[in-house]
Amino acid sequence: MGGLAIVVALLAAAGGGDLAGRTVVIDPGHNGRNGANPQRINRQVDIGNGMRKACDTAGAQTASGYTESRYNLAVAREVARILRRDGAEVILTRRGDRGVGPCITRRAGIGNDAEADAAVSIHADGGPPGGRGFHVIRPTRIEGLTDDIYASSRRLGRLMRAAYGERTGLPRATYLGGNGLVARSDLGGLRLSDVPKVFVETANMRNASDASKIESSRFRKRIARGIADGLERFLSAPSTARRSTTISGGVMRSAFATDRTL
Ligand SMILES: [Zn+2]
Repeated sequence: MGGLAIVVALLAAAGGGDLAGRTVVIDPGHNGRNGANPQRINRQVDIGNGMRKACDTAGAQTASGYTESRYNLAVAREVARILRRDGAEVILTRRGDRGVGPCITRRAGIGNDAEADAAVSIHADGGPPGGRGFHVIRPTRIEGLTDDIYASSRRLGRLMRAAYGERTGLPRATYLGGNGLVARSDLGGLRLSDVPKVFVETANMRNASDASKIESSRFRKRIARGIADGLERFLSAPSTARRSTTISGGVMRSAFATDRTL
């Protein structure tokens, strides 16, 4: 390993690094007025290979009424602040929480138009109240759609899972029966992406323990730090250094994914 490689590795290990020249798209899921505009949100859009899906959905909320759309935006803003401080150009797919959409097709398109080095959709699940924890969703391999981003997104997903778990201390989702990394074929935001992309289901809003964390502005900073770390590790590490030998070992089947809010 040369001197530069060592420096890069050290920076990656520290979760820091110089992101100058890198572009990241952060997608806070849903929007605050989605629920009040079903006719616009339920409009079917083309998500590739003839599959159609609603433009967007309303999202989850905690028992006390803290909405997922508001939470997603708060976390996204904090992630953006961290990444910009480290030199990255950061684009958010929506600015406020009083609008409708954009459609999942547009959310993917924003990352593609920016030719982003990485994109992440931020969500919180509406899972069973007895289950807690987070999971990361990566795309399955679909010829003509995700074949170009499948491997890089898997690498992003693994790095994100590790960084997020370390920073937040949250468990890998206990209600999915898996290991915190889920492959799904049905999400328009992943199917239509031409840049490496994952979703982070940061916690379960319907679980009392997770909800109390989500509702804490201090803990949201940890959540954001975990997501930023995952992105920085991905952007800092040489992509060829991570050839996997556990392709099937670490992945759940998409049929077991239970996010009802997507
Ligand atoms: Zn969501």
